[in-house]
Amino acid sequence: MTTLMIEPAAGRFGDYGGRFVPESLVPACGELAAAFRDAWADPGFRAELDELLAVYAGRPTPLTPARNLSAELGIELLLKREDLAHTGSHKINNVLGQGLLARRMGKRRLIAETGAGSHGVATATAAALLGLEATVYMGERDMERQRLNVLRMTTLGAEVVPVTTGSRTLKDATNEAMRAWVADVDGAHFLLGSVGGPHPYPWMVRELQRVIGEEARRQAPYVPDVVVACVGGGSNAAGTFAGFADTGARLVGVEAAGGAALTDGAPGVVHGARSMVLQDAEGQVAEAQSIAAGLDYPGVGPEHAHLAATGRAEYHTVKDDEVVAAVRRLARAEGLICALESAHAVAWVLREAGTPLLPAGTRVLLTLSGRGDKDMATLGDVA
Ligand SMILES: *Cc1c(COP(=O)(O)O)cnc(C)c1O
Repeated sequence: MTTLMIEPAAGRFGDYGGRFVPESLVPACGELAAAFRDAWADPGFRAELDELLAVYAGRPTPLTPARNLSAELGIELLLKREDLAHTGSHKINNVLGQGLLARRMGKRRLIAETGAGSHGVATATAAALLGLEATVYMGERDMERQRLNVLRMTTLGAEVVPVTTGSRTLKDATNEAMRAWVADVDGAHFLLGSVGGPHPYPWMVRELQRVIGEEARRQAPYVPDVVVACVGGGSNAAGTFAGFADTGARLVGVEAAGGAALTDGAPGVVHGARSMVLQDAEGQVAEAQSIAAGLDYPGVGPEHAHLAATGRAEYHTVKDDEVVAAVRRLARAEGLICALESAHAVAWVLREAGTPLLPAGTRVLLTLSGRGDKDMATLGDVA
């Protein structure tokens, strides 16, 4: 699948992607694309990033056979352990790459949006490490839901700006972060947390997350039949898929039933890219609804819209109650408490094992995108 291998021309993935931004951001997006193209081709930059990923972020993360659950389900399940990466999820891969790039571009400040707070914490972490300032936009409602992550960010020295508009969640925080970038486009780098947004973000973030899939490919004793990951904006899935795009493995993304842009959405433009978007009857961006704050987003990265349209990847949904049950079952079977986001992928495997979607004996590789510490209060509220 060449679309997963190279920079897409003009940032287009088939009918999706592109750059739909205010005129004031067009030069900045162009400069960013040129800077990343240059850095990504520079062995010095790659070596610096690889070193940070190894000695700072804890890569390579292990590939763990889920032996007990495999026996219970009658399949072979391998877990790619992004929960063991520094700050507790795959988000660190992206922020270290973009942080190094921002420094290389002479920026002094990182601006980020965050939902659950994981991307905000990762951005604050990269800023501290690399000697940059960080301003993180977070919906007021998410700040209440994820108090601990707010404290982590401020402890790391970041400024957290509450967003009080709209649904006071990730969609609105992203709008505010983009506005803040317009206001300080020379001094700041907008560090987008997933594979959405205008070109070059969908391409750049997928390249920075590709390490997940490439490591897993090397670590797995075989090419799996099915590769599965949860999809919010789609970065851990895109990075995972990138390692298996040229194999015969089925690529499966799992969305929250209440935020299923690929299943329930329609083509539209959100946050600078044409993709699949949840919309109301008037075509306005609709609210997403998920127990996992990190999946509570009405859009999805444009490459996933393209992979769905071409049939190279398939996308399914799971409901909140299945997700909660999946966290508990994985915890009890394997001693792993995963994030509610990651549990979407687990829930789909639990539901489909033994059905025609995952017949007995299927070899499944699943990316466990993060750890569940941040979700204990949420889980505690669910009977
Ligand atoms: C942010 C996050 C997600 C969702 O983001 P993607 O871009 O879809 O990967 C999934 N899992 C965890 C643990 C997260 O922190």
